[in-house]
Amino acid sequence: MKTQSTQLLIIGGGPGGYVAAIRAAQLGIETTLIEGAELGGTCLNIGCIPSKALIHAADEFAKVREFSGESALGIHSSAPVIDIGKTVHWKDGIVGKLTGGVGALLKKNKVAVIHGWATIVDGKTVDVKTADETLRISCRHLLLAAGSLPVELPFMPFGGPVISSTEALSPAVLPKKMVVVGGGYIGLELGTAYRKLGVEVSVVEAVDRILPAYDAELTKPVAAALKRLGVALHLGCTVQGLNAAATAVRIKNGEGVESELAADQVLVAVGRKPRTAGWGLESLHLDMDGRCVRVDDQCRTSMTDVWAIGDMTGEPMLAHRGMAQGEMVAEIISGKRRHFQPLAMPAVCFTDPEVVVVGLSPDQAAQQDCLSASFPFAANGRSMTIESTDGFVRVVARRDNHLILGWQAVGRGVSELSAAFAQSIEMGATLEDIAGTVHAHPTLGEAVQEAALRALGHALHI
Ligand code: FAD
Ligand code: NAD
Repeated sequence: MKTQSTQLLIIGGGPGGYVAAIRAAQLGIETTLIEGAELGGTCLNIGCIPSKALIHAADEFAKVREFSGESALGIHSSAPVIDIGKTVHWKDGIVGKLTGGVGALLKKNKVAVIHGWATIVDGKTVDVKTADETLRISCRHLLLAAGSLPVELPFMPFGGPVISSTEALSPAVLPKKMVVVGGGYIGLELGTAYRKLGVEVSVVEAVDRILPAYDAELTKPVAAALKRLGVALHLGCTVQGLNAAATAVRIKNGEGVESELAADQVLVAVGRKPRTAGWGLESLHLDMDGRCVRVDDQCRTSMTDVWAIGDMTGEPMLAHRGMAQGEMVAEIISGKRRHFQPLAMPAVCFTDPEVVVVGLSPDQAAQQDCLSASFPFAANGRSMTIESTDGFVRVVARRDNHLILGWQAVGRGVSELSAAFAQSIEMGATLEDIAGTVHAHPTLGEAVQEAALRALGHALHI
């Protein structure tokens, strides 16, 4: 068997692994990255980017469809058609550009990339099966960045009409009726997109409200918008399986009453699990947190010089978290003192309207003496001009010194406010800092300033 050695060996070329590789190489660390599928991982190939591309295409289609009816704007068009094959091709083009870009960045930084599946031999040795051979690579540091996989329902496994987000992002044809199991991130982002593409969509969610990870007030505008769109919500319901003909999903509500939802496709989106089995990881006997690899605040595992980042290390399973961890691990290995202790970890759900949370919600801050205030987009001029007045911005701050602890927002386009929210928290801004900053007019950002002003008791436009 051919052997090689390297200083840092990274398993997984997703956002966690490839960012770690680039930063390590920038710092002069000899780095090898192993990727079994495609560079860019879940995020670029079958996650963040393709889903946002499909959501955009669905938004555009829905907009033109709206104009084929009565429009207050005075715009009228004939009924549009969608060639979903062409849409998928366009989406794949974006994915190709980005994954190609990651390859080019790795090459530019002199990271050795090996395309093949890795199997762990021990904490310093990994075998890689490439298309032509098996290599044995020894390393000083081993970084685990193998990501996650969709959770399967044992009684309704993936296959046939039952699909995961991966298949939902590359439809050959659109189904007529889709049942979405899970009213979380994927279920609602893709469920909304499919509905806008003309598919009849029903969402079955085990908890009695959608997006249960967020506070209820924040998700109300999303629930209202889903209703307007015609998405049927079956909340507090459990899925029992497919009917015998595989033409419907059997569900049971809170009272135990069973019913069937007709479907020619079923998207199961009930969470993701860390990819920790099937490639020898078990042989390291690392300390685990359930199915996730346990790491400390430097992403060290329980074995010396074995590190883990990204989805393998548990919630929140977000691309930017994996990237930030990867960058930090590279810096620690290079000798810098770093800890992963972000005050602000933004999370965005790209529904329509979008939802953003950064830092503490009022409930999470309840033990501290806090105040919170919100400003509705109904009172924001820019929101009116883009026909989107649903939603609000909310700020949470300490009562004594007005230090900002959290922001939440729901509304069209609020994902772009996440940068301002995270920066204000990381920089230790107070309500007065935000209230005293001149915000451009007319922008959604004015609602951020007004929320801070309102918390101080003197909002101007409400
Ligand atoms: P991954 O991206 O999963 O990468 C791991 C890589 O390791 C994979 O390429 C895999 O092939 C490779 N690998 C695994 N095992 C081996 C092995 N033994 N040998 C060689 N290679 C191996 N997050 C956001 O922040 N924003 C979003 O908008 C967003 N949207 C999403 C939409 C969908 C539909 C999905 C499914 C996820 C979304 N996410 C989003 C989550 C995001 O994709 C993940 O958090 C992120 O990709 C995790 O990065 P990672 O590097 O930990 O792992
Ligand atoms: P999720 O955890 O967001 O939502 C899963 C939902 O399914 C939950 O509401 C849960 O109550 C429900 N559920 C669980 N079991 C069920 C059952 N048997 N029947 C009915 N409902 C059930 O998970 P997801 O939507 O699969 O997404 C996986 C992860 O991917 C997310 O947690 C997130 O980390 C990441 N992601 C992020 C984004 C983003 O950042 N915009 C987008 C997509 C995915």
